[in-house]
Amino acid sequence: MVKKATKEGTVTDINKGKVTWFARTVVRLNNYRKLHKNFNISPENILVLLPRCVQNSECTQNIVKDINNCKGCGRCPVKSLVSMGQEYGVIPRVATGGRLALSYVLESWVEAVVAVACEAELKAGIFASPKPVLAVINHRPHGPCTNTGVDLAKVREAVLQLIGKKTACQAKPA
Ligand code: SF4
Repeated sequence: MVKKATKEGTVTDINKGKVTWFARTVVRLNNYRKLHKNFNISPENILVLLPRCVQNSECTQNIVKDINNCKGCGRCPVKSLVSMGQEYGVIPRVATGGRLALSYVLESWVEAVVAVACEAELKAGIFASPKPVLAVINHRPHGPCTNTGVDLAKVREAVLQLIGKKTACQAKPA
C-alpha cells in the first residue's frame, strides 16, 4: 500500500514537472519573440501585474484594493515595486487570480503588460491576453503561493523594453 502511494506520488511529481517545464518553455518563447520587437509604449499604458503571494503573508495592508496602501516597510518586494512604478510612471497592480488579472489587462488604458507569477499562471495569461505580455517567473523560496519573491532587475528590464529604452544587457525577463 505504501509502495503504491509512493509510486503514485512519483508519477504525480513527474507529471507536475512536465507541466512546469512546458509552461516555462511557453514563457521563454513568448519573451524571446518579444525581444525582437521595438516597443515604444507610454509608461502610463504599461501594467505591471503582480500576484497576491508577493505580499508578506503577515502584512494586513490591502494592496489588492490599492497597491499604494503598502506602508513601505520592506518586508516584501512590494515596496520596491511601488518605487519602480513611481520611478518609471508604470502602473503596478496586484491580482488575486487569473480572472481579476485578465480584467485588469482588458482595461482600455493598458497597452502592454509586465506580468510576475509562477510558470503556470504566466502561461495561462500569455494565452489569454490580447495584449503583449513580458513575463517574469517569480521566486518561491517558501514553496508556491506564499511569500514569493521576484528578480527586480528582470522587472525593470521588461519595463524598459516596453518603454523602448533597451539596456546594453538586453532583457530576458523570464
Ligand atoms: S512592503 Fe508593503 S506590502 Fe510588503 S509587508 Fe511591508 S507594508 Fe506590507
